[in-house]
Amino acid sequence: MAAAQRTVIENCSIATVDADDTEYGHGHVVIAGNRIESLGAGRAPEGLENVVRRIDASGHLVTPGLVNTHHHFYQWITRGLATDHNLFNWLVALYPTWARIDEPMVYSAAQGSLAMMARGGVTTAMDHHYVFPKDSGDLSGAIIRAARETGVRFTLARGSMDRSEKDGGLPPDFAVETLEGALAATEATVKEHHDASFDSMTQVAVAPCSPFSVSTELLREGAELARRLGVRLHTHGSETVEEEQFCKELFGMGPTDYFESTGWLGEDVWMAHCVHMNDSDIAAFARTKTGVAHCPSSNARLAAGIARVPDMLAGGVPVGLGVDGTASNESGELHTELRNALLINRLGAHREAALNARQALRLGTYGGAQVLGRSAEIGSLEPGKLADLVLWKLDTLAHASIADPVTALVFGAAAPVTASFVNGRQIVEDNRLLHVDEDAIARSTRAEAQRLARIAAQG
Ligand SMILES: [Zn+2]
Repeated sequence: MAAAQRTVIENCSIATVDADDTEYGHGHVVIAGNRIESLGAGRAPEGLENVVRRIDASGHLVTPGLVNTHHHFYQWITRGLATDHNLFNWLVALYPTWARIDEPMVYSAAQGSLAMMARGGVTTAMDHHYVFPKDSGDLSGAIIRAARETGVRFTLARGSMDRSEKDGGLPPDFAVETLEGALAATEATVKEHHDASFDSMTQVAVAPCSPFSVSTELLREGAELARRLGVRLHTHGSETVEEEQFCKELFGMGPTDYFESTGWLGEDVWMAHCVHMNDSDIAAFARTKTGVAHCPSSNARLAAGIARVPDMLAGGVPVGLGVDGTASNESGELHTELRNALLINRLGAHREAALNARQALRLGTYGGAQVLGRSAEIGSLEPGKLADLVLWKLDTLAHASIADPVTALVFGAAAPVTASFVNGRQIVEDNRLLHVDEDAIARSTRAEAQRLARIAAQG
């Protein structure tokens, strides 16, 4: 077998986000093949063989690649609609449009969502896709194809909905699948696309949409299916006060108790939002190691509230960050969520002690890897882990006078990405994507957004 090719990165600051938060003011990282071979203070060791590239990263901070733990790619083509609504009103306004999506729309929207995140330092993305109109094509296949082309590591959370208006749910009747249809399609997607290996680029999770759009049977049988297939579970939970009321009226209990009763707490589960959690809900997540995808911008956009992230972290709950769908976070960027998570949590009960810059960076990297079940492989810079890392340029006007690099990255303006590597392969250079054409994606997403608007207007 040929010896692995090496890339040497030198003269940079490094935030490893390892268990001790080790940082180097002037250090090096050596990538060999798709792994991190070594890193540390000073220059790289002399005499390394097969060095194909040497990067002088002066003025840069190197961090693990960002991990996005909650998104809905298809919403890229319904941005800027229902901009002054709360969650339930926003959903009711948008479902009729979303129910008209087809494969070319979903592919184009996935390209747009992925491109925006990747050029901002995301190296692992996920898509919670739950709208599968009848005869709309191979939506899961299209999403996975877009992720492969962009070059990011990817988890598809195969979503589903089977509780429509006629059953007291929010989606219109024509926008949902049957219980049996959803379970069969989810199982087929796992069997076709899930790769459980250490350096896997594609994984699949079982992901019914939310308590107010799926039946109790779909939650229960979805959990059984995921455990039979050995894959993770994802859904929305405790997002708004309206959801809490909905659960109490329909099921006689709050969302967390309802999830527990359907098999939806556990270390193989992560849930988006978790805003309205009391002490016993947080204790239940901590006890079961259920993960949380914290989506601060979306929660603000939909006036949902402030998740109790400091209390979750204090209890040992795994917490990552999420963009959420771009119909409720039009920017679609994750690196700005580091700052938003920190600022929004400081508006909550813990005030200035809520989160610091290092904790915010940890949420966006290692915390994300934990909730996706991949913390052995990614999320921190350590020898033997996969080479998913970002070079942030911090020596220009925006950041050069900020006291330290991690503070600059989190508190400062969105930092430019000089290079981003996934699995040892470079996918971004000087803020441009290397394997897909950003301008062509901008054009196609605009065309598909207009086509969807036209079809939706016809009713
Ligand atoms: Zn969501």
